[in-house]
Amino acid sequence: MPHPPSHLMQAYARQPVSFVRGRGARLWDAQGIEYLDAIAGVAVTNLGHAHPEIAAAIAEQAGLLLHTSNMFGIAWQERLGERLCSLSGMQRAFFCNSGAEANETALKLARLHGNRKQVAQPQVLVMENSFHGRTLATLAATGNPAVQRGFEPLMPGFLRVPYDNMAAVRQAAEQTPGIVAVLVEPVQGEGGVRVASTDYLRELRTLCDQFDWLLMIDEVQTGMGRTGTWFGYQHAGVMPDVITLAKGLGNGFPIGACLARGPAAELFSPGRHGSTFGGNPLACRVGCTVLDIMESDAIPARAATLGRRLLAGLQDALSGHPNVIAVRGLGLMAGIELDRGCGELVGRALNEQQLLITVTRETTIRLLPPLVCSEAQIDDIVARVARLLSPTQLNHRTTSSCTPLQ
Ligand code: PLP
Repeated sequence: MPHPPSHLMQAYARQPVSFVRGRGARLWDAQGIEYLDAIAGVAVTNLGHAHPEIAAAIAEQAGLLLHTSNMFGIAWQERLGERLCSLSGMQRAFFCNSGAEANETALKLARLHGNRKQVAQPQVLVMENSFHGRTLATLAATGNPAVQRGFEPLMPGFLRVPYDNMAAVRQAAEQTPGIVAVLVEPVQGEGGVRVASTDYLRELRTLCDQFDWLLMIDEVQTGMGRTGTWFGYQHAGVMPDVITLAKGLGNGFPIGACLARGPAAELFSPGRHGSTFGGNPLACRVGCTVLDIMESDAIPARAATLGRRLLAGLQDALSGHPNVIAVRGLGLMAGIELDRGCGELVGRALNEQQLLITVTRETTIRLLPPLVCSEAQIDDIVARVARLLSPTQLNHRTTSSCTPLQ
C-alpha cells in the first residue's frame, strides 16, 4: 500500500522500520520481529529500553508534579545538580533539554568569561571533525561542512584546528589574540569514533591554565558511563572548567546539563540565561533515577568491561578483512572504518541481521550498545556485524550502491 504524504518536515532520512516496544537491548516492530539494539537511540538509552525503575519514577512523578518553572525552587533539580557535581568535580549545574542547548550554555559562559577579561572579539577554539549540535551557534562550532551548508553566515567567534594536535593549538595560541576557551570532545563520536590521546587533554589543561582559557569538554555522547568512566575526561585525569551532558542523562527523557567549576560556575547571574522547561521536576527526577541505577549496578565499570569485549571481538572477527581500515573505540563506543562509503549498511543491518547500527562520516560503522547489554548480547552484536561485513556480502552488495573511496 502506498504511504500517504507525510506532514513531517523532511529533516531525516528514516529507515522504513518503526518500533512499538523495547526491553533492555531488544526492540520489536509492529509485526513482532525482534531486533538487537547496538546504538541505544544514539547513546541515549544507556540503561536499556523500558527500564522498570525509570518507568515507575516517571509514572509517580507525573502523578505528583511535572512542571512549575524556574521561578521557584525545584528540589529534584537541586538534588540532581548536587549529585552530578559530586561525580564530576564540578560545582554548579544549569539544566536544559538537549545536548545543543547544553553546549549553547557553555558557549555563553565562554563569552561572559571573555567579557570579564575585556576581550573585544572572543574566540572559542574548536576542532576539525567535531560535532556539537544543530543550533546556529553549535553548528558554527561543529567541524563538518555538511552540517553548516546553507546556514551561512555562520556565527563568528570560532577558531578551528585539527583534533588531537597540540602543535596546532600552540600555534593558534601564539598567533590569535582573543581566545577565551577550548571546546572539545574526548572521543569524536559523530566524527567517526576518534579517540583523543590522554596526553592531549592533559596538555590542553596546561595551556588553558597558562592563558586563562576555559577548558570546556563536550560529554554529550561520551558522558554518563559510555566510555567506561562516568565522564570521558576522567581517562586523562584532568579537571575541566565546564562540561556538557545530555543523551544518557535521561535515558530517553529529554534533559541536558552544563556543569562548571571555579570562576566559570559564577558567571551567570539572574536574567543572563534561562530555559522554560530546563530542569523541571520530572526531568530531574528521571536524571536522579538514572544515577541511582548507574551507581547501584556499577554501570561505568560494566561499560569498560563490555567495551573491551566488544572491541576485542570485533578486532578478532574482522582481522584481515580486505575492506576494514581500522577498528577503534573506548568503552562501549566502537567504530569500524571501511575503505568505502557504507551508509546503505544501516538498512541492510536492519533487514538482514535485525541489528541497529549507525554510520558516521560515511565510512565508519558506529556501535553504541546499551551499557546494560549481557555478554551474550555483545557477542551477538559482533557475530551479526561480522556476517554483515563478510567480504563476499560486502563486495557483492556494495558495488552498485556504495561508492569506494578514491
Ligand atoms: N554534542 C555531541 C558530542 C553530540 O554527539 C551531540 C549529538 O549527537 C550533540 C552535542 C547534540 O546533542 P542534541 O542532539 O541533544 O542537541
